[in-house]
Amino acid sequence: MQDTILVMNAGSSSLKFHLYETDGINTLEFALGGQVSGIGGKQPSFKVKDKHQKILVEQFLRPEQAQNLQLSQRVVGDWFGTVITKEPLAVGHRIVHGGPDYDRSVMVDNEVIKKLDALVSLAPLHQHNNLEPVHVIFENWPHIRQVACFDTAFHRSKPEVADRFALPQFYYKEGIRRYGFHGLSYEYIAGKMRQDYPDVMAGKVVVAHLGSGASACAMLNGRSQESTMGFTALDGLPMSTRCGQMDAGVVLWMLEQGMTHDEIQHLLYKESGLKGLSGISADVRELQGNPDPRARLAMDYFTYHIAKGITGLLTATQGLDALVFTAGIGENSPRVRYEVCKHLAWLGVSIDPDLNDNNQACISTPESNIGIYVIPTNEERVIARQTLALIRDSHRA
Ligand code: ADP
Repeated sequence: MQDTILVMNAGSSSLKFHLYETDGINTLEFALGGQVSGIGGKQPSFKVKDKHQKILVEQFLRPEQAQNLQLSQRVVGDWFGTVITKEPLAVGHRIVHGGPDYDRSVMVDNEVIKKLDALVSLAPLHQHNNLEPVHVIFENWPHIRQVACFDTAFHRSKPEVADRFALPQFYYKEGIRRYGFHGLSYEYIAGKMRQDYPDVMAGKVVVAHLGSGASACAMLNGRSQESTMGFTALDGLPMSTRCGQMDAGVVLWMLEQGMTHDEIQHLLYKESGLKGLSGISADVRELQGNPDPRARLAMDYFTYHIAKGITGLLTATQGLDALVFTAGIGENSPRVRYEVCKHLAWLGVSIDPDLNDNNQACISTPESNIGIYVIPTNEERVIARQTLALIRDSHRA
C-alpha cells in the first residue's frame, strides 16, 4: 500500500477527514474523504466517499455512538482499522488559531501542544475541538508525525494598523488582535489564482470566502493585507447563523438586560445572521428565491454587507484588480454573486449574467474594470501540502 497523509478537521458538530496518497516528497493524490456529522445531535451519520465520488460508507449512527467528539473519533478510527493496513506517514490538522506567533504550519511536539492549548480561550468554540484528535494521536501513537495548520497564519503578514484594535496596548499584548480566519482557504485560492491567472494575482485582489462562515481578505501579490474578520470568527460579514460586524455597545446593552455570557454567545453564534434576520433558515438555498419578505430582507442584508465589507478592505490595497468568490455560497450561488457585484458597479465591476449563471471560472464582462472569478476552494489540500512540506523538510534536516 502507498504512503498516505491523513487530514483531520474536528469541529463541534462534525469530524471531517481526507486521505491523500503520497510519495512522501512531491505527489499528493486525494484517495478518500468522509465525515461524522451531527455529533451530539439526535441523528448523527457517518459517510465516506472515494476519489470517484463512490460511496464507501453511508450510515446513520445511534446518538450514543457520536455523543461527543471522542466517541466520533472512535467510529472513524474503527473504520480506518478495517480498511487501512498501513499507518499514515503523518496527520495534518486544521487548527483555527495559531495565535500571534505562528505564521506557518508547525510540526507538533510537547511544546507546541502546550502553546496551542493556551490559545483555547481565544477561540473557545473551535480550538478545543481542533486539538482533541491531536491529543488522542499524541498519547496513543506518539511515533506518528502530526502537523498543525492554522487558519490565522496566512494573515500574519498584515501590517500593524490592520492587526490592532483601538484599545490600550495591554490588550494587544494579551493577544486581543485582529487575527483574521479562513487562511487555509485563502492560501489555496492565492495558489490556484497564481497558477491560472499569474498576472491578476500579482495585483490587488479581494477573495470573498462565503460559506456558512464568511469573510473577505484583501491581498497584494498574494499576501494578506486586511481581513473582514477580527479577533473571533464572529466579526465582519454576516454569516449563516453569526451576526458579523456589530456595535460592541449592543453586547453591553444585553449584559445590562441581564443576559448571561452563554445566552449572548448562543445568540450571536447560532441564532443570528441569515437565520436570525429571516426567522426561516440559515441556508441560502432556502432563502434565495423565497418570496417571503423576511427571506428577501435577509438576502438583501447579506449581499449589501458583503459588498460593504469588500469596499472597506480597499484602503489596504489602494484599489482592486480582481474579486474572487469561493466556498459553499460563493461557488454555488449566482444570485449572491450577482447582487454583490451590483452593489459594486460604481467601482467598475461588471458581471456577465450568463457566465455567472453557469458558474464559469471568470464571470466578468470584457468591459469590466475588475476581473470577477469563481474558484472552488480546497482547504484540505492546503493542509496536506503543508504537512508534506514539513515532513520533507524534516527528512532534509
Ligand atoms: P462550511 O464549510 O463553513 O460549513 P461551506 O463552504 O460548505 O460551509 O458552505 C455551506 C453553505 O453553502 C450552506 O450554508 C449553503 O447556504 C451554501 N450552499 C451550498 N450549496 C449551495 C447552492 N447550490 N446554492 C446556494 N448556496 C449553497
